[in-house]
Amino acid sequence: MITEDRTNNLQKNLLGFSVKGLTVNRRGMNLLMGMLAAVPITLVLPVDALQVKMTPTNPRLGDTLSVLINLDNPESNTNPTVASGENTYPAFEIAPNQYRAFIPTTPLEKAGTRKLRVTGDGQVQNLAVKVSDRKFPVQRINLPPGKAGVQATEYELKRVATLKALKTPQKYWNGIFLKPNAGRMSTIYGVRRYYNGKFAKDYYHRGVDFAGAAGSPVTAPAAGRVALVGRVSQGFRVHGNVVGIDHGQGVTSIFMHLSRINVKEGDVVKPGQLLGAVGSTGASTGPHLHWGLYVNGLSVDPIPWRTRVFN
Ligand SMILES: [Zn+2]
Repeated sequence: MITEDRTNNLQKNLLGFSVKGLTVNRRGMNLLMGMLAAVPITLVLPVDALQVKMTPTNPRLGDTLSVLINLDNPESNTNPTVASGENTYPAFEIAPNQYRAFIPTTPLEKAGTRKLRVTGDGQVQNLAVKVSDRKFPVQRINLPPGKAGVQATEYELKRVATLKALKTPQKYWNGIFLKPNAGRMSTIYGVRRYYNGKFAKDYYHRGVDFAGAAGSPVTAPAAGRVALVGRVSQGFRVHGNVVGIDHGQGVTSIFMHLSRINVKEGDVVKPGQLLGAVGSTGASTGPHLHWGLYVNGLSVDPIPWRTRVFN
């Protein structure tokens, strides 16, 4: 559900007019010239040059929010931005005068109303979006006392963090994302865990697992540039042999626990192109593919990207 804060909006527009003296003057001039020429060109002048649309209309935790921004006759060359809480998300031009920003949501956040502030071309628009709760499955893991599981190395954490932080202006992907492996989905996104009866409040399953047979092909769900190839021998203790793809504009994918890797860093891959094979390398208890999809650094549910086109 999207509600627009109209009072605030009106105030912002008023503020915009008083601050943007040049705009007023230019519009005033157009108005004057229009009257002199006796042509009703003033009728086509936009009252509100910043239009915002959000999808999906009823988001749940784990969904990717897409904020579509239209600017009529933008006067500056700077892209709009969308701010929410402490974070500011970049908007990229996807058509003439049309921009889009993605906002990730995760199971670690609270459901409820989220305020967004869209800034573009000297104007500000405040929006509120209701993000609904979602029941994520819970797993109970019991580890023997003193056994904490495999710890990631500094090196693998650094390399993976660099991948997730990418905000490449180029948009590589187009249309819906494909399944990266033919196996059935064995673990969905967002599963929460208890370890020895204690709720792991920072843990959620950051992706989806496919139970593909060992050695079965792992393919690119969408076009992108290979930005990470990591191997157990380099210290990828948790991820195992891993491939990371930069789809552009803050969207990245990671493929973990591979037995084999068929690409190298810098390769530009097409949808369906072979990346490697399913394995059980790293922190894995059996052959499976883990696919994580990251939007502006946070793990979102990849499944909506399989059925809906994110422009
Ligand atoms: Zn997984």
